[in-house]
Amino acid sequence: MTRRFTTIAVLVLLGSILAYAGGRSEPADRLLEYPIDVVATTGMIGDIVPQVAGEYARVHVLMGEEVDPHLYRPTRADIARMQRADIVFYNGLYLEGRMGDTLAQLSRTRPVFPVAELAVAGLAADGIDEQSVLLDDEEYDGTFDPHLWMDVSLWMRVVDVVRDALAELDPPNAETYRENATVYREELAELDRYVREIVATIPEERRVLVTAHDAFGYFGAAYEVEVLGVQGISTESEAGLEDINALVRFLVDRGVNAVFAETTVPDRALSAVIEGAAARDHRVVVGGNLFSDAMGPAGSWEGTYMGMIDHNATTIVRALGGSAPERGFTGRLSGGDGR
Ligand SMILES: [Zn+2]
Repeated sequence: MTRRFTTIAVLVLLGSILAYAGGRSEPADRLLEYPIDVVATTGMIGDIVPQVAGEYARVHVLMGEEVDPHLYRPTRADIARMQRADIVFYNGLYLEGRMGDTLAQLSRTRPVFPVAELAVAGLAADGIDEQSVLLDDEEYDGTFDPHLWMDVSLWMRVVDVVRDALAELDPPNAETYRENATVYREELAELDRYVREIVATIPEERRVLVTAHDAFGYFGAAYEVEVLGVQGISTESEAGLEDINALVRFLVDRGVNAVFAETTVPDRALSAVIEGAAARDHRVVVGGNLFSDAMGPAGSWEGTYMGMIDHNATTIVRALGGSAPERGFTGRLSGGDGR
């Protein structure tokens, strides 16, 4: 048995334990009041809830704009908020690296769902070889890259997990949740097509995406872009001089002229890369500011999951010499490069 399979087995087991704890720990006669009180760790997960549950649920997102989930520690208020919730959704796959104990404790009294982790377990259940879909976190043995939202078709499976969890919690409205999820899935499928189409317009030799940390692995795998991050998959470890030098060599050798900043990661290492390239007479610019681990401002298109992906894909394509409409997928992008 490879370590990868062991990990999957553990994840599946963990998922079922959490789902079990979730489904059974509440007294059976506890009345659910509307709107259902949902807490989600990231904005991307939180954004699924109104799409699926509409008026029947209200979601509170713990990590807002520009918050790095790899480093986030829950506050007392967060913990109190989760303890009052009817249901809690988090990504899992160690994205919320510093919330593990809190979430484990919480799962004894509340339904707590690691939605990306369960979506991954669902791949195997559907007879899909998860090894062909999932990316390893090369820095930590036996763990997966948690940034599933970067591949819209994978994120659609997370929508299914949220749909099923809400349907189980609130059976009288299960049919509505299924219908809403189907509509949202269709919109996501269109977005997935848009990203695929515009990325294909980038000249092949320029299809290289260099970002501050390794959040875009699934984006690269799904839409056929070579991806390199200055930092690893988690932002826990900072990029060393060696990483920076290797990246500078790569940019010079390949003639890559654009790198991308992220709203949740400091630009220090990226600036070092740009300066390093300049010292070798190779001009590199920041091609834009991408939303990697958090969405844009609340209330804006970029502050939705679809808008975040639209912004990222459109910004990347335009900076790398492909063609994409300035205002993106449905003309709702605010324009500019997100900075
Ligand atoms: Zn990340």
